Parts: sequence; C-alpha cells; structure tokens
Amino acid sequence: MLDLTVIPATDTRLPAEPFRGRHLIGGTWVEGAETFGRRSPSHGVVVSHSALGTAADAEAAIAAARRAFDAGDWSRAPAKSRAEVLTRVAALIEANVDRIALLETLETGKPISQSKGEVSGAADLWRYAAALARTLHGESHNTLGTDILGVVVKEPIGVVSIITPWNFPFWILSQKLPFALAAGCTCVIKPSEMTPSTTVMLGELLVEAGMPAGVVNIVLGYGLPVGATLASHPDVDMVTFTGSTGVGKGITAAASGTLKKVALELGGKNPQIVFPDADLDSAADAVTFGIYFNAGECCNSGSRIILHEDIAADFTARVVALSRKVAFGDPLHPDTQVGAIVTPQHRDKIDAYVKAASAAGATVALGGTALQVPGLAGEFYQPTVVTGVTPDMAVAREEVFGPVLSVLTFRTADEAVALANDATYGLSAGVWSENVHTCLDLARRIQAGTIWTNTWMDGFPELTFGGFKQSGTGREIGSYGLEEFLEVKTLCMRIGRSRANWVRA
Ligand code: NAD
Repeated sequence: MLDLTVIPATDTRLPAEPFRGRHLIGGTWVEGAETFGRRSPSHGVVVSHSALGTAADAEAAIAAARRAFDAGDWSRAPAKSRAEVLTRVAALIEANVDRIALLETLETGKPISQSKGEVSGAADLWRYAAALARTLHGESHNTLGTDILGVVVKEPIGVVSIITPWNFPFWILSQKLPFALAAGCTCVIKPSEMTPSTTVMLGELLVEAGMPAGVVNIVLGYGLPVGATLASHPDVDMVTFTGSTGVGKGITAAASGTLKKVALELGGKNPQIVFPDADLDSAADAVTFGIYFNAGECCNSGSRIILHEDIAADFTARVVALSRKVAFGDPLHPDTQVGAIVTPQHRDKIDAYVKAASAAGATVALGGTALQVPGLAGEFYQPTVVTGVTPDMAVAREEVFGPVLSVLTFRTADEAVALANDATYGLSAGVWSENVHTCLDLARRIQAGTIWTNTWMDGFPELTFGGFKQSGTGREIGSYGLEEFLEVKTLCMRIGRSRANWVRA
C-alpha cells in the first residue's frame, strides 16, 4: 500500500457545458472559423472550446490596439480615470472568484483552494496597479542655469503584446496587464492554448468595468501563428512574455527585426540552502511547500536543496515524512494541496528526468512514478525526493517542472554559494540559518532576482520580481513593474533669448 495522502474523486459536479472562448478585438467578441478544445488534466473531459486564432486575427487585434493608443482616450487620459477603471476591475474579479477559480482549476489541474487564492490575490494586484498609476511622474532639473529648465517626462510605451503560460494563467496576466494599463498602454493578449478561458473571463470583466474598446484585445490560439505575430509585428512597441527560456529566446529573435522592447520572465532552478543552525522544522516545511506547490509546475519551484552535510540525512528524512502527508488528488476537493500534471506528455517528461537521475547513480528516496487517484482518469505524479544528486545531472540543472526534489550537499558556505550559482538560471533562492550574518552574506553573493531568508515564496505586490541570467530580463510588479511600460522623454527648455547665435553675424 502506498504510504501517501491521496484524495480520491469527489462528487463535485462539472459545468454542464464546456466554456466557449472567443477573441476580443476592438471591443467586439469574435468567433473563430475553427475552434480547439482543452481537456481537463484531472478529469479527462473537455472543459473549454476556444476560437482558433490566425495571423489575420492577431493583426486585426494589433491594429485595434494601435488605433486605440493613437486616439489617446486611454493613453492620454488622466491617471485618475485609468485608476478608477482598474479599481472597478478589481472589485469585479473579487465578485467572480468562484466562477473564475473553477475554470482555472479545470484547465490547469491545480487545487481549487489555490485557484481561489490566486484569483482573489490577483484582484489586489489590480488595486495596487491602480494606486501606482497616480504616482507616475518624471523629474525636473531647475539647476541647469538661469535660462534653462529641464523636465523628464514619462509616457506609455505604446502597444504591448502580452504572451502568458499555462501554470498561473490568471495571476501572471495580472502581474502584467494592470501595470501596462496603469502606464497608459494598450494591449493584445495571447494566453496559453492550454488555459485560455480565464483570460476570456477577465476580458468580460474589463468590458463590464468600462474599458474603452480596443484598449485590451485578446487572441486565442497557439504560439504559431498568433504568438509569433504578436512578437514580430512592427506596430507593436513592446512584448512581455512569461514562459520557457527556449521560447523566450525565440521571442527576442522575432522582436529584433523592429528592435521593440522585450521583457521576459522565464524558468528557474531555484536552490534553498539549509545550514545546521536553521530552524529545521520551519525549513523542512518550507522545502516541502516549495517543491510541491502547483505540483512543481512553478518558475519559483524550490527544486534543488543544498544541505549542510551534518544535517543532510536527518533533514531529508523529515522532508520525506512531510511529503507523505501532503494531500495529492482531486483538485476540486477543498482539502487537496497538489493536483494534476498539465498533460500526459509533461508527466512523461517529469518521469524521464527521475529515471535518468536514477540511471546516473542518484537514489529515489520517495515516489518516482505516476500516481493513480481513485475515480479520476487524469495525470498525476507522486511526491518525489531524489538524493545523491550531483551538480552535473540533468535533474540538478534543468527545470523538471514537476513534484521532484533534488538533494545536494555542501560543507562550507563558499561551496554552498558556488553550488547555488552553478546554474544558467537565476530566478530565486533561499537561505535558512538563525545567524543573520550568514543570511545576509549569502543573500548578497547568490545570483538571483529574489532571495528569501528563512521563508519561501512570500510575495507582495510592492516587491518586484524577475530573473538574473537566463531567467529573464525586466521586472514585474512593485514600482519597477510600472516603469517597464514607460518611455522616458527629455524636455530641454530655454527661457528668454540669452544664447548667442551660433552663426556669426
Ligand atoms: P511556453 O514557453 O511553452 O509557452 C508560453 C507561451 O508562449 C504560450 O502562450 C505559448 O503558446 C507561447 N508560444 C509558444 N511558442 C511561441 C512562439 N514561437 N512565439 C510566441 N509565442 C509562443 O511555456 P509554458 O510551458 O506555457 O510555461 C512553462 C514555462 O514558463 C516554464 O519554463 C516556467 O518556468 C515559465 N514561467 C516563468 C515564470 C516567471 O515569472 N519567471 C512564471 C511562470 C512560468
């Protein structure tokens, strides 16, 4: 018998009909000549049918966004009116949490309690962006001489393409869209083909909140041709993308033809370093949370732990024991903590990493195979802990994107830093020690956009987020999240006629 905590199928009723998703172009809902379906990864039934976008749909959406931007009704509106619309959207999201969360769970496989948390948390991002809109200002230079006044103003960058992944569809869109809108930009969004529906639901709320037509456009469909058109089109001024590092590099190449601005939030192979003097109970709980949250399908997954040799065996045993208590299973059950894997292909990819590590000499201390959830036909994977991992193994270097923890060890702080930085990624990292000097020293030496000390994955709209190295470029949320969508213009103004003519009389 499996010594794991598995939640079988609950008798929650699924929606009677699949959700029907259409494009939103220039304020009009547009059907596709063809549609594509999304099968729930947990329940194995089709839960949405979406319009299949073409290059022509993407071009029409870009043209609508361009017209709306140039007309100025949004881009030149007082920040106060933009903030009012964003605040109304926040309230509408809050009023629709249950409806949105259900579809988010059915398309992603994530637990319903988590979906509800993400959707209501996203409302707070909209409120924060609304507040930020009204702080937008430039700078003045009154010290350049009696006859010169310099002013640096900030302007919206223009038409922004937003391309999002499947793992946090509603949340990640809300890390980008309200900030772009607060800046005064107009947008074209392409959600992942696996999770299009909650973006459409948000579109419905934007219309209800009074967003002018053409300011936000949505085109559903695949990377090719829709995403590629959004990344390369000359009428787009910026593309902001969250997804895999490989596709991110392709986006940069596609955008280079017009040198448009590119912001990328990509993958991670995030280390947590645990020293012997840490609060080991808290650290073990946070490591367990860090690896199984969202079934490990998370850019911030704490997928490798770097343990001091003195505590490695005991700490690993604690994590294995905790792993057995994490509730895996039906994502619609309120107690479930870990749901389904997004596709059968992805589950096989996760499994291949574990098998390769085992073949290379690592030990599978827990899990390492698919999980059968009674009553559900979907894709699940067991909580998995792999010990004896060496830095050269793929499981230590690449993003597994599954509930698979790699355990490495260190002897000195320098070794721990070297192991942490031995990665092409640099998204986030954690340090566990009760010694503040150890925490601060490592926090300064580790190459990552976010360092957590004695915690993992705490986040706030105020605290900016982004990656070093191949984890990305640019920053989201916080005040930097607004700056990303702004262009800077210098006004240099002469007062009076004090300047002697350049051409001699
Ligand atoms: P993905 O790169 O496969 O797809 C992301 C989006 O890009 C999708 O909408 C997809 O349709 C689109 N796309 C695919 N090919 C394209 C092309 N040629 N041109 C334009 N668009 C194209 O990523 P995914 O599998 O959906 O998401 C998982 C990845 O996202 C992981 O690597 C994860 O680390 C990363 N991620 C990063 C963050 C972060 O903030 N750093 C957050 C969440 C996810």
